[in-house]
Amino acid sequence: MALKLRHDEVMNFDLRPSGKGWMDTKPEFSKGTYCFSGVRKHVEYLEQPNPREWQPYDDDWKLPERWEETIIKGFEDRLSRFRSFKLFMDICVRCGACSDKCHYFIGSGDPKNMPVLRAELMRSVYRKRFTAAGKILGRLVGARDIDEAVLKEWFYYFYQCTECRRCSVFCPYGIDTAEITMIGRELLNMVGLNINWIIEPASNCFRTGNHLGIQPHTFKDNIEFAVDEIESITGIRVNPTINRRGAEVLFIIPSADIFADPHIFTFYGYLTLFHEIGLDYTFSAYASEGGNFGLFFSHEMVKRLNAKIYAEAKRLGVKYIIGGECGHMWRVMHQYMDTMNGPAETKGDPVSSITGTRFDHARATKMVHICEFTSDLIHHKKLNLDPSRNDAYRVTFHDSCNPARAMGMLEEPRIVIKSSCNNFFEMPENTIREQTFCCGSGSGLGTDENLEMRMRGGLPRANAVKHVHDRHGVNMLSCICAIDKATLPALMDYWVGGVEVCGVHELLGNALMMKGEKERTVNLRGEELAAKEKSNA
Ligand code: SF4
Ligand code: SF4
Repeated sequence: MALKLRHDEVMNFDLRPSGKGWMDTKPEFSKGTYCFSGVRKHVEYLEQPNPREWQPYDDDWKLPERWEETIIKGFEDRLSRFRSFKLFMDICVRCGACSDKCHYFIGSGDPKNMPVLRAELMRSVYRKRFTAAGKILGRLVGARDIDEAVLKEWFYYFYQCTECRRCSVFCPYGIDTAEITMIGRELLNMVGLNINWIIEPASNCFRTGNHLGIQPHTFKDNIEFAVDEIESITGIRVNPTINRRGAEVLFIIPSADIFADPHIFTFYGYLTLFHEIGLDYTFSAYASEGGNFGLFFSHEMVKRLNAKIYAEAKRLGVKYIIGGECGHMWRVMHQYMDTMNGPAETKGDPVSSITGTRFDHARATKMVHICEFTSDLIHHKKLNLDPSRNDAYRVTFHDSCNPARAMGMLEEPRIVIKSSCNNFFEMPENTIREQTFCCGSGSGLGTDENLEMRMRGGLPRANAVKHVHDRHGVNMLSCICAIDKATLPALMDYWVGGVEVCGVHELLGNALMMKGEKERTVNLRGEELAAKEKSNA
């Protein structure tokens, strides 16, 4: 689906103050700037509060009785449980360092998309209900009470934050607006306000093990399809297994990797790599999803969805776990998994049987990122790579927000790319690594109905890609996140043109010279190597 608005129409906003105070300016739920509500059957399936039919564009949101009490009790509970949340409510000095750092503000010009003001939506209610000054002086100290208009404002703007954490990099106090958004969405969910693009995948995950609702037999079929494709490209039949007890490694992927395009080519890359090094690994048809859409609306749901990974690691008796190219999955693994569901009952520690490297940083989670695993193989010269097989591509790398900012995964993907490609170009330094710009569609906002807001939010990322596209002829945007792979193609088509999207392990799989392979005439996409090079010359 493509956005019909022209670029000049999207960028036609006025940055001058409207003259009205921010508390008196209300959001307009115009088509293309919000997501549809959670469908009743999925809300019921997850046993979440107040399942009903409603939409954000309705006047009447059919809120439950005494909903204000529910919100304030929930607020109080989270202030007592999350010290960071209490701190973030108290310490902002309104210095403004974060204000122009959010991609949604840059792309929409809406002041409430400044992180400082987004947080103020909630902080104002905090002052009114939980501080003496706010109770007595009200608006004079920026306090206001919760009412239906405020609740609608929360919904609009907390679902226009991708929880990317870019703002926190620039805040002198380290205030993490993503965490405020997370609590905001959690409170909204308590009165039945959520979006379907999050609720449905979470519900699918409980029924079938993955967000896409792929049944175990289809999971198996798709893996077999990949095996056939790899054989036709390389002449080698790889042999992945599912639910095999006693394997050394449990391999967890985002389910889009076996289903969607261009994700599937990354999946071919994983399988060729594991075959080449003789890794003893298995998939699980139950833990067939590493992503965790619970992260986007409820801490309790994060924990419930994440638990299956350790349960399967224990049932299958593996030594440790490797995780594939996913973004938010790694925020959960790196920051929550051990405290929520640990300690992991695996049969060993994360030690590569190929290189002997002990991944000490993963001692608690028992989970190693595929880019760490592969860059370690490259470092130990265990792979025979021919980067010229990717010569048709002029590649740049988009640091996905969660691996970059939530776990510091900055060098490893670059090591893999630079060993697999001859033509690599970095985007400007204030748009990569810790300062990377979001795709504009993360945290469950990647829906078609929200397309205008996605294109607005993705503008800074697209702008940086356009820079290297124009200057160096970049035609391939690589990344290590399933949501990026799903949403960046539309963003590139809208703002840049002539740039495709791939995973890092697709590039590796192209370059990997496997023992006994036939002469490769096509890349993992099935494109003829010579023809592809010619068409890009
Ligand atoms: S940078 Fe931090 S302290 Fe400054 S306005 Fe933003 S959130 Fe507040
Ligand atoms: S976390 Fe990201 S999307 Fe949310 S306010 Fe900060 S910069 Fe904007």
